[in-house]
Amino acid sequence: MFAQHLPRRLVAPEPGWTVQADVVVVGSGIAGLTTALEARKAGRVLLVTKTLLDEGSTVWAQGGIAAALDPEDSPEQHLADTLVAGVGLCDETAVRTLVTEGPQRVRELVALGANFERTAEGEIALAREGGHHRDRIAHAGGDATGREISRALIEALTAVREDPGIEVVEHALVIDVLTDADGRAAGVSLHVIGEGQRDGVGAALGRAVVLATGGLGQVYASTTNPPVSTGDGVAAALRAGAEIADLEFVQFHPTVMWLGRAAKGQQPLISEAVRGEGAVLRDVEGRRFMVGRHPLAELAPRDVVAKCVVSAMTETGAEHVWLDARHLGRAFLEHRFPTIVARCRENGFDPTTDLVPVAPAQHYASGGIRTDLHGRSSLPGLYACGEVSCTGVHGANRLASNSLLEGLVFGHRIAADLAEGLPPQSDPVQRPGAPGLLAPDARLFVQGAMTAGAGVVRTAASLATAATCLDQLVEERRADAPTTEAWETANLHAVATTLVGHATLREETRGGHWREDHPDRDDLRWRGHLVSVQDADGNLHTRFEELP
Ligand SMILES: Cc1cc2nc3c(=O)[nH]c(=O)nc-3n(C[C@H](O)[C@H](O)[C@H](O)COP(=O)(O)OP(=O)(O)OC[C@H]3O[C@@H](n4cnc5c(N)ncnc54)[C@H](O)[C@@H]3O)c2cc1C
Repeated sequence: MFAQHLPRRLVAPEPGWTVQADVVVVGSGIAGLTTALEARKAGRVLLVTKTLLDEGSTVWAQGGIAAALDPEDSPEQHLADTLVAGVGLCDETAVRTLVTEGPQRVRELVALGANFERTAEGEIALAREGGHHRDRIAHAGGDATGREISRALIEALTAVREDPGIEVVEHALVIDVLTDADGRAAGVSLHVIGEGQRDGVGAALGRAVVLATGGLGQVYASTTNPPVSTGDGVAAALRAGAEIADLEFVQFHPTVMWLGRAAKGQQPLISEAVRGEGAVLRDVEGRRFMVGRHPLAELAPRDVVAKCVVSAMTETGAEHVWLDARHLGRAFLEHRFPTIVARCRENGFDPTTDLVPVAPAQHYASGGIRTDLHGRSSLPGLYACGEVSCTGVHGANRLASNSLLEGLVFGHRIAADLAEGLPPQSDPVQRPGAPGLLAPDARLFVQGAMTAGAGVVRTAASLATAATCLDQLVEERRADAPTTEAWETANLHAVATTLVGHATLREETRGGHWREDHPDRDDLRWRGHLVSVQDADGNLHTRFEELP
């Protein structure tokens, strides 16, 4: 349906050193840490991460982790809410797996040392977020859930670090997935800022590779994602020949603090949990615009709220709306949301007395590397876990607080699959064709094109403009000097190109994909998935797979 040429590997020096493990895990968020800790049962694990262990989206997670822990709640109800949020495109078996195994995995996380807030009776305190009909969000430190989960997992890793069965390398950026003559994953090439024998570009060979590299938020000019979220895993998997699905479904969080037109990169998020506790949205003229738009008003699914925010901004000609939490009171807000209150105050707004300006910004990638229920990608030997993956649990939109849970549940499932038996190590071969790279200054052009053309609201014309800009960059911003910035920019470009291709093809509005020129959901034509794969020559092919 759509063809585009992208490189099958990145320009990089030949590996100067080699390290061997049974399982190479890439990334140290909830997905990578969980997989690495569990995969030790399968063999020797090498965990590599781009910067420091605790840099990724996981530590930024505020609201919490969803699981049917309340006796009044059930996995069936969690399933029902997840399916609604996914607007007809969730894989029901994958969701059922998530919600059924989730409660036990969260209890194990508690046993591992994660301290969730408790009720007076000593039970895990559960909050509510958008799209959930029950209180089922476990949270920690008020609004510092991700930091607590990350702390507990890193502490568990530290406790086994002397174990020869696991090795951790920080400041190790994975460049490409290495493949053998049969196209099977055989390891990764990586750049390590280290000392002695492991400095510069090397090869980490493994009998299985698990990509847990997180999101792709930096594809856009403004995002809640941290700087490491440059879509490296999706881009590397694509170059290696794995299938990428549902990339057009990007979640734009409706309440990201608006700090002016010039604000770029990671922006402060105001969690849905604040609305869950009663905060409301008002347009710049003070009107509550969510009432009457959806039965759940401010707690409607995120895509619905984001669209209503954009409409309210258009109607009033403003660049933001207001979040009003003043009536919740200083004592409550400071206790329940200490991090958010502090971030607001740092930026000149006191949510206990002021309205806070908010607007939608990129938040979550619902699509990614397509996997089965065991985290296996379409490429033998390559697994994907967490936000980088597309397990089918999110469909066209992720239900709030389901992503931490996904990393936890599927990390365990991948480890269990690896423990069933690992194939022998195979020899990597160089994939044919010229390698590619983009100059670091192309990043701003990618982000500008994506924000203008493939943001919250998309049209055929806006997407065509974005596609032209992305095409031109290949000719005009080619680079030969491999650097971290150039590798990341090439990855952003590959992800952006694939995303724009999907968004152009999907002529309907569904979940996180809003086409102004096709404003309705079209189940007759579009009830299914767009799946992209690069062929041996580097041509990107995107096909539509209709659901039965
Ligand atoms: C502000 C914010 C708030 C959120 N709140 C919630 C919430 O309340 N509940 C919820 O469920 N979800 C929430 N999310 C989403 C959730 O945090 C993420 O989806 C989840 O943490 C992803 O986990 P992960 O392990 O897949 O990726 P991450 O935690 O992003 O980890 C990715 C890891 O991969 C590494 N990496 C990336 N590229 C490379 C490379 N080339 N080589 C080596 N390493 C690499 C990174 O350095 C990092 O260690 C939030 C996200 C944000 C940004």
